[in-house]
Amino acid sequence: MKLRTKFVAATMLAGAVSAFSFLSAGAAQAQGALVMYCGVQEEWCRAMVNAFERDTGIKVAMTRKSSGEIYAQVKAEAANPRADIWWGGTGDPHMQAAEEGLTQEYKSPKLGELQDWAVRQWEQSKNRAIGIYSGALGFGYNTELIKSKGVPEPKCWADLLNTKLKDEVQMADPNSSGTAYTLLATVIQLMGEDKGFEYLKGLHKNVNQYTKSGAAPAKAMALGETTVGVAFMHDIVTMVVDKAPIKVVAPCEGTGYEIGSMSIVKGAKNLENAQKFYDWALTPAAQKLGAEAKSYQVPSNKATPVPPEAPKLSEIKLINFDFAKYGSSDERKRLLSKWDNEVKNLPK
Ligand code: PLP
Repeated sequence: MKLRTKFVAATMLAGAVSAFSFLSAGAAQAQGALVMYCGVQEEWCRAMVNAFERDTGIKVAMTRKSSGEIYAQVKAEAANPRADIWWGGTGDPHMQAAEEGLTQEYKSPKLGELQDWAVRQWEQSKNRAIGIYSGALGFGYNTELIKSKGVPEPKCWADLLNTKLKDEVQMADPNSSGTAYTLLATVIQLMGEDKGFEYLKGLHKNVNQYTKSGAAPAKAMALGETTVGVAFMHDIVTMVVDKAPIKVVAPCEGTGYEIGSMSIVKGAKNLENAQKFYDWALTPAAQKLGAEAKSYQVPSNKATPVPPEAPKLSEIKLINFDFAKYGSSDERKRLLSKWDNEVKNLPK
């Protein structure tokens, strides 16, 4: 097939696929099924959809995006919500959506089975966002690349400012990515706002790309496209499990962590099914699917086995992360716009 013909055929196929997704989303609503916005890795999203459909017979129309992108979509659709359930991604945009009235209250009968941090998230969001998993932020490096560049193995956040790492560090854009927003909030809590922004400006000199998705730098490290990647430690572990030459680092100064969350969208057209999914997603059987899909967070139900690959939170120097403050609408908007103005657009 000639290149142009191939392109036209591919475009038609893409059109057909997106028309199908649109139809299936419409059909889901008509049948009282479930429309889900999923904020974790595609493999885990798919595993959740398949298991829920199998267990309940409810058809799910799922869209996967990064945390900040889902928030933006839910906000844009507020007058006529398309989604019923928002499952996964970092807690901060869930908290912001709760405060802005984009999501609704729900008290699950599973509440009593959850870790304290998961329940606290629910209380702080006024009964809207609930914790589904947790994991610490860190970075990793490709051991072969770091050796070939003669750079000492980084152990601390400060080490990522090494001038020898120019264009060798990858992180996501905090506007789209909850992972990168966690970095922003982490360095401010560790260093204070002024020094935290100075740090991010210094880091900018070494950043080769701000990706849309938070886990992308971990994949790029595995492919040898970047020497260092900032990401959640569990997302880097996924690459190590796949035998990539990568070392995972819990930064020496201490680090932040996330409470991955779930919310029901305000005005959900399939409310009863959204509540069914909410309760089901908090069971150990559903939470176990994470590790099976090579996602190694710490699950929120106390009875869900913690995957042995999951970085042990008790062994990592964690900061006392203020989820209410950094998830508040005003603070999140202020910090993201400050990062856009003072860091992202800075010449190198
Ligand atoms: N995927 C996994 C496995 C995660 O742990 C998280 C964090 O909640 C995300 C995706 C969120 O990614 P992003 O930074 O792209 O919003």
